Formats: sequence, structure tokens, C-alpha cells
Amino acid sequence: RAKEIGRNNLQVFTEEMAARAHEKLQWQEELREAIAREELLLHFQPQMSLESGRIFAAEALLRWKHPVRGIISPATFIPLAEETGLIVPIGDWVLRAACRQLKAWQEAGLPPLIVSANVSARQFREGNWAERVAAILEETGLEARYLELELTESLIMQDVSGAIATMHELEAIGVHLAIDDFGTGYSSLSALKRFPVRRLKIDRSFVADIPSDGDDIAITSAIISLAQKLGLRVIAEGVETQAQVEFLQKAGCDEIQGYFFSRPLPAHEFESLLRQAGCDADGI
Ligand code: C2E
Ligand code: MG
Ligand code: MG
Ligand code: MG
Repeated sequence: RAKEIGRNNLQVFTEEMAARAHEKLQWQEELREAIAREELLLHFQPQMSLESGRIFAAEALLRWKHPVRGIISPATFIPLAEETGLIVPIGDWVLRAACRQLKAWQEAGLPPLIVSANVSARQFREGNWAERVAAILEETGLEARYLELELTESLIMQDVSGAIATMHELEAIGVHLAIDDFGTGYSSLSALKRFPVRRLKIDRSFVADIPSDGDDIAITSAIISLAQKLGLRVIAEGVETQAQVEFLQKAGCDEIQGYFFSRPLPAHEFESLLRQAGCDADGI
């Protein structure tokens, strides 16, 4: 009897595993086709200078408009894209779409703005990454200084010297770099000194409980003063409340990004925001 239950359980277990594997394959197939079917799109979230109160940049955030499942968040499909290597063509698509959109806004006469795009480890480690970036800039006609690439600490720490070499190649092209989700990835401070980056992005997990959590206040203040001492700019992610803005302003944070100011927006809505609020990338 016990044996029978065991066998039945095993059967349920393997059926479930098979179902899950099948589902994953199906996702993979759909994601592979998403580019050609034009189901990928970018939303743009403004980054604002606390000094001038103006928008200076837009972070491009990927969305997948699935014909049946609706809009799917990158947190759901980026891991699958990384696992399967699909992140490489998807990442190229993101970069091209972000540069093209910014170029279109420039040609429409909007004031200078920077666009920042997220880069995944697999993409970054792909040989000739800097050349690919240069080719996309060339193809879209966007000047390199208007592009910023967001690298996570964990991406860099996987291979510090390799990452630094690629970062220097990107710097030579004229592209700017930021470290995303800063504070979550155990990068050593001595390595940080060697990174040719312009900006640290304080992870939103540290910002969320400001001003009530004393530890988060301490960590955020420390990151801000570290950035200042290293001559880097610093932006806080995930800023949602007035109290957070006030704290960050007092602590000397340069910039903010978050729902307090605006959610990520479809391109046409972002454009309306720019027309209303203006923007200024030259001050930074
Ligand atoms: P991230 O680069 O750290 O982007 C910030 C995330 O925080 C975005 O989530 C944004 O919508 C969200 N966010 C912004 N302000 C607030 C706020 O005030 N409160 C809260 N709770 N959340 C806020 P999203 O768009 O879902 O993206 C999640 C992550 O997916 C990104 O984190 C990034 O790591 C990754 N990702 C997005 N687009 C791309 C892409 O094109 N390529 C790659 N490789 N990764 C991407
Ligand atoms: Mg980012
Ligand atoms: Mg981030
Ligand atoms: Mg984050």
C-alpha cells in the first residue's frame, strides 16, 4: 500500500515536472518570437535632478505585450531570457529602440535628455559588446554622450578585471555608465574606485523605509557620502514619498527616480511630460 502511494506520488511529481518543463519551453518559444512579432516595447521613467528640479534622463524599461497574457514585467521574463541566451538579441533590441526613441525626440526639438538602458551580465560578457554599442549608436545617429548604460554590481563582480576592461572600452566610445541596485551586490570599495562610472543608483530596498528605518537611513547616507567623496553622482531609486525626498535632499543626494515623481510611462505619455515639464541633460 505504501509502495502504491509512493508510486502514485512519483507519478504526480513527474507529471507536474513535465508540465512545468513544457510550459517553460512554450514561454521560451513565445519569447523567441516576441521580437519579430513586435511585442516588445519600452516604458520610460524620468530621473530628476534635486538641484534644478528638472528631468535630465529617462530610464528605458522593457515590457512584453503578450497577445494573451497582457503586459508582462521584465522581472518575469528577463531571467528566462538570460538562461536561454535570448537576452542578447533582446538586449540589442532594447538598446536600438532606446537610442532611436531619443533621437526622434531630439529631432522633434525636445531639449537635451539622456536615455539609460539596463544591461544584463550575459549581454555584457558577449564578446565585442562595446563594438555592438558603437554600431547601434552609429546606426541610430545618437551621440554617445546621451546614452547611459546601467550595470549591476553583481554583473561587475562576476569578473572584475574583465568588466573594467569593457567599461573602459565603453568610456572610450563616450557612453556613460552607472551602477544599478548599488548596495545589494557586495562590490568591494577598493574595486569601486577603479570603475569608470559616472553614477551610483541606490537600490530601492534601502529607500523604501526611509525615514522610519534607522539602518536604511545610515546605509543611504553612507552611500551618498561615499559617492560624493569618489566624485560620482548619486541617484536614489524607488522614491515614493515627500518625506523620502526631503531626507534625500538634506543628505545631499543629487537625483531621484520613482513613483513620487512619475511611474514608467509609454513613450507618447513620456513625451507629453517632457513637453510640459521640460528637461535638461546639459546641467549634469
Ligand atoms: P531596475 O533597473 O532597478 O529598474 C527599476 C525598477 O523599479 C523598475 O521596475 C521600475 O518600474 C521600478 N520602480 C521605479 N520607481 C519605483 C517606485 O517608486 N516604487 C517601486 N516599488 N518600484 C519602482 P521594472 O520596470 O519592473 O523592471 C524591473 C527590473 O527588470 C529592472 O530593475 C531591471 O533590472 C530589469 N530590466 C528592465 N528592463 C530591462 C532591460 O531592458 N534589460 C535588462 N537586462 N533588464 C531590464
Ligand atoms: Mg535600472
Ligand atoms: Mg535599479
Ligand atoms: Mg532595482
